[in-house]
Amino acid sequence: MEYPGNLFVVAAPSGAGKSSLVKALLELDSHVQPSVSHTTRPPRGQEKHGREYFFTSQQEFDAMVAANAFVEWAHVHNNRYGTSKKAIEDRMSHGEDVILEIDFQGAVQIKNIFANAVCIFILPPSWEELRSRLERRGEDKPDVIEMRMKNAQVEVAHAEKFDFVIINELFDRALFDLKAIVHSQRLKFAAQRRARAETFKALHIP
Ligand code: GDP
Ligand code: ADP
Ligand code: 5GP
Repeated sequence: MEYPGNLFVVAAPSGAGKSSLVKALLELDSHVQPSVSHTTRPPRGQEKHGREYFFTSQQEFDAMVAANAFVEWAHVHNNRYGTSKKAIEDRMSHGEDVILEIDFQGAVQIKNIFANAVCIFILPPSWEELRSRLERRGEDKPDVIEMRMKNAQVEVAHAEKFDFVIINELFDRALFDLKAIVHSQRLKFAAQRRARAETFKALHIP
């Protein structure tokens, strides 16, 4: 499927810094919009329905699956997460860039549907640092942290399927890398021809 807007997919093991990086990108760049996923996970302290996620009951999630309302969904850390069609298609069809923060299983599904999706994997600098970020974040109980550390090994093994890799050691450096990837997509011929139609016309470039 093709749309005028770019679709960016960011995956990473829990704690690698994916949400912090995407949040910082969104603050700097008003032309990229987040997709808000549905999840059966309960909300964390500061999380708000409709902002971080649409927090959904098992029954509601089942109903959405049955209604074919998801572009992709997956089981992650004992919960279900999914991207609704509604969350991305309107925006992309209007030429806006959309960014998804999803797990690697979802990223693979997205790439099968949207061959032009730009898939970015965020790595932590080390396993020790990943654990200490999960602990410092203080949002998950010790047993949940253990499960996330275990799942992280599986996720990292899929990094090679992605188009780009960012190692989030120094935050600002990683943010610079993420911005560079987004910017480079906007410089592609087809994107420039769309964005700078007048200039192309004046230069007689078909
Ligand atoms: P985080 O790992 O600390 O960001 O914790 P979250 O609970 O926010 O996310 C759990 C996992 O679900 C992560 O791997 C996310 O990337 C993934 N995830 C979030 N939303 C989606 C979605 O819409 N689809 C899929 N497939 N995965 C998602
Ligand atoms: P994810 O969304 O991948 O689970 P978060 O964005 O929640 O990860 O980051 C996990 C924790 O690590 C947060 O407390 C965040 O402030 C911190 N963090 C993110 N990037 C860095 C970094 N480069 N250096 C140190 N701490 C970081
Ligand atoms: P958390 O529970 O910490 O917010 O997220 C855990 C994992 O679920 C993260 O790796 C996150 O990327 C993933 N995730 C969040 N939303 C989705 C989604 O809509 N689809 C998929 N496949 N994964 C998601």
